[in-house]
Amino acid sequence: MKSGFVSIFGKPNAGKSTLLNALMGEKLAIVSPKVQTTRHRIKGILTEKDYQIILSDTPGIIEPKYKLHEKMMHAVRSSLEDADLALLLLDIRDNWEENDTLFSALRLKAPAVVVLNKIDGIPAATLAEANAFFTGKPYCRQIIAISALKKTNLDMLLNTVLGFLPEGEPFFEGDDLTDLPTKFFVGELIREKVFLLYGDEIPYQTTVLVQEFAEKSTLTKIRADIIVQRESQKGIILGEGGKMIRQLGSDARKDIEAFIGRKVFLELFVKVRPKWRDTENFLKEYGYN
Ligand code: GDP
Ligand code: MG
Repeated sequence: MKSGFVSIFGKPNAGKSTLLNALMGEKLAIVSPKVQTTRHRIKGILTEKDYQIILSDTPGIIEPKYKLHEKMMHAVRSSLEDADLALLLLDIRDNWEENDTLFSALRLKAPAVVVLNKIDGIPAATLAEANAFFTGKPYCRQIIAISALKKTNLDMLLNTVLGFLPEGEPFFEGDDLTDLPTKFFVGELIREKVFLLYGDEIPYQTTVLVQEFAEKSTLTKIRADIIVQRESQKGIILGEGGKMIRQLGSDARKDIEAFIGRKVFLELFVKVRPKWRDTENFLKEYGYN
């Protein structure tokens, strides 16, 4: 039996959350075309009869500007500490030098595999060049090229990961998919819709707090607060005559129903909490520890 912790690191938008979901075959991490969508360390537990891989998706590595960012980078550091293997993920179309600098700065103790992502539509010559660029870098034990979106070469990645995993007993029960409660994923699915529906600063100044999650006989009743920093943002979230929040609620409800496999009654409220991103108590209340 092999068993261990595998953490996915990389810049914002490299495709970390997409990769976690693809490996899990389940949407655990929310994904959007915008940077900084992921704010927590999200564990996906992949259990088969001869192995258990505990995968961690992490927030993209950034220079902290708010206390919220500091919490996000703490999530990255905690994943650095217990990793048996690091997957250093990059968008192959991104600047390789910059990624190299970032990967070096992690000062990894664990072995690392460089994962070139988004190879869909990339010419073979570029792949070969990227391979040559990362070969021999001090942190790089192996290089794999994948497309997390198209699920290309994921078997190869999985086999490589298993090669680096220590022998050991599983850490979690066989049917656990994650260590986080359903309520957390419900909040994330609502937050994802904020990233997808609103522009500019709105997604970055918003968080979601699930206040009630009650399993009734025929459906699950969920009440959640959407937290923004300013009164004007509340108006934007609501939209004219409440049009936007109805869209948000309807999109989120569909995803939550698919995730929990039950009918959902979803109630959303918008609350203004000035400077929540920089206020320790609010951050704690909203689950950023
Ligand atoms: P993260 O910030 O590293 O977690 O990145 P996400 O998983 O949120 O993905 C960022 C964007 O890249 C999303 O729009 C994804 O659909 C897209 N993406 C992820 N993987 C691939 C891939 O293999 N190919 C392409 N073309 N796009 C991808
Ligand atoms: Mg992400």
